[in-house]
Amino acid sequence: MALPPNDMPMDSLEEWDEDVRRRYPEPDMPADAQFADSQAESHDFRNYEEGTRDGVREFYRQNHRYQTLDFVRKMHNKYLPLQQRKMGIWEAMKQLSEIIDVSDPDTEMPQIEHAIQSAEGIRKDGHPDWFILTGLIHDLGKVLCLFGEPQWAVVGDTFPVGCAFSEKIVLSELFAENDDMRVPGYQTPCGIYEEGLGLDHVLMSWGHDEYLYQVVKDYLPLEALYIIRYHSFYAAHRERAYGHLMDDRDDKMFRWVRKFNRYDLYTKADERPHLDRLLPQYERLVAQFFPEELQW
Ligand code: FE
Ligand code: FE
Repeated sequence: MALPPNDMPMDSLEEWDEDVRRRYPEPDMPADAQFADSQAESHDFRNYEEGTRDGVREFYRQNHRYQTLDFVRKMHNKYLPLQQRKMGIWEAMKQLSEIIDVSDPDTEMPQIEHAIQSAEGIRKDGHPDWFILTGLIHDLGKVLCLFGEPQWAVVGDTFPVGCAFSEKIVLSELFAENDDMRVPGYQTPCGIYEEGLGLDHVLMSWGHDEYLYQVVKDYLPLEALYIIRYHSFYAAHRERAYGHLMDDRDDKMFRWVRKFNRYDLYTKADERPHLDRLLPQYERLVAQFFPEELQW
C-alpha cells in the first residue's frame, strides 16, 4: 500500500475535529474528563499539546507554515470565480462522504452523520429552519478535497492573515515557520487592515469555511453566513482574540457563531440518526432555500 503523501499527515479530516473536541471538552462533562476550565480564557495549552497526536501536530505545522497572505490570495483567485463545477447540495454531501468517510471506525458515513446530528441538535432546541439548515450544510466546503487540496488548506482552525498571528491560536509557536512572520508590515496587531473595519474586509486563512460561505452567500440569512464563514475561527469565537478587527455587526453576529459551536462539537455523542427516516425532511428543507444546482 502506498504511504499517504506528505500533505495528508492525518488519517482523515475527522482527526482535526476530534482534536478540537479534546481541546474544548463539553462543559458539563465530569471534571476528570476535562483538562481545562470551562472558562474559555483559561485553557491550558500546555496540557493540550502534550496529548496532541503526531499526525495532528504535523497537520498544524503545515497549516501554520503555509497559510500566508499570498497563499490566501492565490486560493481566492483559483476558487472564488466558482468555476470548479456545478452541483446540488446533496451531490456535494454524497461526494464528501465518498472521499473522506473511509477511516472512521464508528460509522460508514461520518460526514453525513455529523451533518444530520448537528442539524437535529439545533432542531430539538426549537431553532428556526435557517439555523437547522446551516447545521446540515456547514461542512460542505470540505469538498475542496475533491479538487486535490491538502488537508492544511481544507480544515484546521482559521485565523486572519496579513496581521499578527494571535497567541490564542492553537499551537501558535508553529507560526515561526510562516513567511509572513518576516514581513514587518504583517506583524502589527492590525497589519494591512484598519482597526475596527469589520471581518468582511479581513482575509482569513483558506479552508472549508470561507469556500462554502462564497458558494451559498446569496441564499441564506446573514446569521447563517457568519456561522458558515467563521465556525472554525476558534481564536475569536472561543478565545475572544481579534476583537480589534471586528465591527458592531461582527460582535452581534458572533453570538450566533458561538451558539452554533456546541452543536458542531457536542452532538456527535448523541443517538445515531436514522438517516432513512430523516433524509426526506432534510431534502425538503434544502429545496426551500437552494436551487437544484449551485456554482462551486
Ligand atoms: Fe467545519
Ligand atoms: Fe462540523
